[in-house]
Amino acid sequence: MSETLENLDKTYVLNTYARNYVNFKSGSNAILKDDKQKEYIDFTSGIGVVSVGHGNKQVANAIYKQVSNITHTSNLYAIEPQAKLAKKIQELSGYDVATFFSNSGAEANEGAIKIARKYGETKFDNKRYKVITLAHSFHGRTITTVKATGQEKMHTPNFSPYPDGFSFNKHIEDIYNSIDEETVAVMIELVQGEGGVQPFEKSEIQKLAKFLKEKDLLLIIDEVQTGVYRTGEFLASNLYDIQPDIITLAKGLGGGVPIGAVVTTHKDIFTPGDHGSTFGGNYLSSTAALEVLSILEKHQDEGKIKKTIDYFSDKLTLLFEKYPNIFTKEVGLGLMRGLRVKDEATLSAIINNGFDEAVLVLKAGKNTLRFLPPLTITQDEIDEGFKRLDNAISKI
Ligand SMILES: *Cc1c(COP(=O)(O)O)cnc(C)c1O
Repeated sequence: MSETLENLDKTYVLNTYARNYVNFKSGSNAILKDDKQKEYIDFTSGIGVVSVGHGNKQVANAIYKQVSNITHTSNLYAIEPQAKLAKKIQELSGYDVATFFSNSGAEANEGAIKIARKYGETKFDNKRYKVITLAHSFHGRTITTVKATGQEKMHTPNFSPYPDGFSFNKHIEDIYNSIDEETVAVMIELVQGEGGVQPFEKSEIQKLAKFLKEKDLLLIIDEVQTGVYRTGEFLASNLYDIQPDIITLAKGLGGGVPIGAVVTTHKDIFTPGDHGSTFGGNYLSSTAALEVLSILEKHQDEGKIKKTIDYFSDKLTLLFEKYPNIFTKEVGLGLMRGLRVKDEATLSAIINNGFDEAVLVLKAGKNTLRFLPPLTITQDEIDEGFKRLDNAISKI
């Protein structure tokens, strides 16, 4: 067998993903080019990661400058870009918060759960440790965050036993009756990403936030996907006008460089020794994130993100209305959007035909066609992507 990418991957990489065998060689904003010079429009941005586009020269230059000097020193010494990044996150969030840096979303959620558990241990007479989540949520792939994820199919006996203290409710309304004397926190996404691009009602979220505050229980908002301007504000929590106790970030923060963040108003819970990470917030990742935030803050201030959201929304609605026999509902917020498809087979056909037409789109939940374009996507790229998607759908 020749050493094709497919052979290499299948022989040496563990088999955890149902992969497409394409070999991307270069990228520019929302365009990816493969080894045969075929150009794809990327409506996925690497699952909401490449927030400022592929091949972003400003981020690349900042990274290059940093890593030609220092890449890593460990968290035993203060790290200037990490401290500056934490300050920037505080300023952009508008909350009185401090941040711990990890390397991924799951790890950020683990950190959030640790803060909640220590809070539950130290702030009450009886130990409170239980965390309530919601059906169709997604919180990560570690043993703990898989258990926190509100999808029974993820709790396979293959990986049991799971840690105690996690349960999930079907609806937000059910949470109130599930809280017992051992409950310490509720952890939710404001727009469920993997679960089907499903936003919750603002009033429902505000009511829950108020209730938890009155009970001194914690509200953890998993903004790993919704954060960093994805919904149009720096945080979806800003859009929902709530004050969470803990917010987690990851995907879009580093523009492709792995970084996660646990952002909390409870600045005194962790003390040295409680938590740590070898790589978390090192020179490389925090420099990348600082540059990403500086680009996106400027875009936001100039009204470009809102313009892009409006333009993308119009195109999405046109497609939705053109195919009433295929799409049943438009869902999502900002540049985190979805179209519900009548059935799973049709959704697969759209994604596969889209791939052939060179437009990349995602699946969410059972039957949602999901769009997470770079926040810097241009109108031309949006036009071209929807033209190709239309072609893909017309061939079904
Ligand atoms: C992707 C995602 C995670 C997991 O992040 P990883 O970086 O893959 O560990 C957690 N929560 C939400 C809401 C996500 O979308």
